[in-house]
Amino acid sequence: MRHNFGAGPCILPQEVFKQASQAVLDFKDGLSILEISHRTAEFEAVVDETTRLIKELMNVPSGYSVVLLQGGASLQFSMVPMNLLPEGGTAAYLETGVWAKKAIKEVAPFGKANIVASSKEANFTYLPKDYTIPEDSAYFHVTSNNTIYGTELFDFPQTNVPVVSDMSSDIMSRVIDVSKFGLIYAGAQKNIGPAGVTIAIVKDDILGKSGRKLPSMLDYQVHIEGGSMYNTPPVFSIYVAMLNLRWLKSKGGVAEIEKENIAKARALYAEIDRNPLFKGTCAVEDRSRMNVCFVMENPELEKSFLKFADENGVEGIKGHRSVGGFRASIYNALPITSVHTLVELMQVFAEKH
Ligand SMILES: *Cc1c(COP(=O)(O)O)cnc(C)c1O
Repeated sequence: MRHNFGAGPCILPQEVFKQASQAVLDFKDGLSILEISHRTAEFEAVVDETTRLIKELMNVPSGYSVVLLQGGASLQFSMVPMNLLPEGGTAAYLETGVWAKKAIKEVAPFGKANIVASSKEANFTYLPKDYTIPEDSAYFHVTSNNTIYGTELFDFPQTNVPVVSDMSSDIMSRVIDVSKFGLIYAGAQKNIGPAGVTIAIVKDDILGKSGRKLPSMLDYQVHIEGGSMYNTPPVFSIYVAMLNLRWLKSKGGVAEIEKENIAKARALYAEIDRNPLFKGTCAVEDRSRMNVCFVMENPELEKSFLKFADENGVEGIKGHRSVGGFRASIYNALPITSVHTLVELMQVFAEKH
């Protein structure tokens, strides 16, 4: 058995893979999920259930719409300013890593990005805490979990400015209060489902204020009115996401998975802090519960630990090239037994060296 610590696309529950493969062969009367019309009642039911499960699992209040989009989180980097930023307006951004930087870059065609704080000077190993969000910002954009650097925001700022959050890598891993946000978006492939579908949760009253004419496909309102069916949606990705959301609900929902995620992260960070060969790369208070980044005191041993881990069934722990070392992604579907396996391997390796 392989323990999949990959950062994304990533592990989903085995039972979801089994159900998904069954639907490829026979979804309805011997027809595959891949060959039926998205306008059938059966597939419309899939979109409805997926949307309902997102609302239920995240406790989305009224006044918000949930839409299923394409183009990944990366297209949201553009859709957010396009839809929310008036001509000549300014949006506030927190610069906390590669994904935040990419989001900031996409503002330029539509207005100005005001970087209110950055941790660039420390290679994004912590989250800036002291900053002010100007009241006249069209919105404030933050990356809730920095997948590459392994930091996670636990206290969102209090502000009257609509908060927009890229939650691609920690959505539904912990309870959040949706009513504090103007817009939440997430590519599905880290905690929700396969690549190809992107979730957006939009507060209805923040739309329609940019004064900009938008291409239909890039307009949240068009997708909301179309019920995520303005054009052919990514049918298979949505179906698998629905299966995974059902799994999450059967586990007791986000509050229950959060407890498991806390236990997994504690176990792994405890070993990193205890084991003399390893050390964490981020400020302790900002450590992510989804992407655990660490290095070795002696970098020359890193190759050999990676090989040792691989030989013992641990997959996907090589760190991102901009950080080096290791990154163990411990998303919702990763069982705590896999974390225990990694911890044991770290202990055995330390005894040998
Ligand atoms: C993976 C990731 C992205 C990029 O998502 P795509 O779907 O590939 O565009 C953006 N933001 C965060 C935080 C991510 O983890």
